Amino acid sequence: MKNKAGVRGGRVSASEFPRLEQCPGSRNLIVKLGDNTIKESEWSSSGDLVHKYLATRDTKLLEKMNDQQKDCSEKCIEQRGRIITQVFGSGEFESFVEERLWTPLKEHSRSFSGQADERFVSLDGKIGLVIDYKSLFGDVPAAPDNLQIGALVVLAFFQKPTMEKCYGAIVQPPVSEHPVLVEYTPQMAGDMLEVLCGLIDAARDADAPLRTGDYCKWCPAILHCRAAKDIFGTVYKLACETQLDGLK
Ligand code: SF4
Repeated sequence: MKNKAGVRGGRVSASEFPRLEQCPGSRNLIVKLGDNTIKESEWSSSGDLVHKYLATRDTKLLEKMNDQQKDCSEKCIEQRGRIITQVFGSGEFESFVEERLWTPLKEHSRSFSGQADERFVSLDGKIGLVIDYKSLFGDVPAAPDNLQIGALVVLAFFQKPTMEKCYGAIVQPPVSEHPVLVEYTPQMAGDMLEVLCGLIDAARDADAPLRTGDYCKWCPAILHCRAAKDIFGTVYKLACETQLDGLK
């Protein structure tokens, strides 16, 4: 499978912003590594099954799931229903599943893309909603503080400029039964865009620093990162020693 960073032409994706905020240098390292980074599928096959089911509702997938995955899928669908009612009431809406959106100038150095698991727009074009499903345990910032959600909302506004507000939610049943909604106005989305562009600028700096933290465990470059070497100690050393030689 081709690395997703390659598929996106090396541009930043919405899911990367939380990491870039903490570790600006990670982007340069990931671009340098190219196809040598860890593929997302290598650590998220369990979550992939739930995501595939939520996207397709193909009941054959349920036969491949364990009880935990089935339970998570059911809860995602139940929480999704509650959020939709909260945002749209009895109003009609369109929905878009796993659709990758780009900022308008795809070739611009600050361009980025993002793929909401689901995006919704009211039929009058005034209200939007983006939902990101997370099927695994793991700390992620709540929607109001989550830069991935912020980026997906910005992209939703670019896609549907008539929107007067757009909501964002993270649905993560293993962590919470009650997803928090964040509401963005066009002004707030503009402010978020400035923040995201600032993070891209910082990440493009040749001297952007590497900073380690808990988030390293989800970083595609972790097996090749000298900064992470200290926190993963001997296991890291054994696994990566030979690969590091090629990057000196
Ligand atoms: S492993 Fe950690 S320190 Fe290294 S690039 Fe990734 S996020 Fe940054």
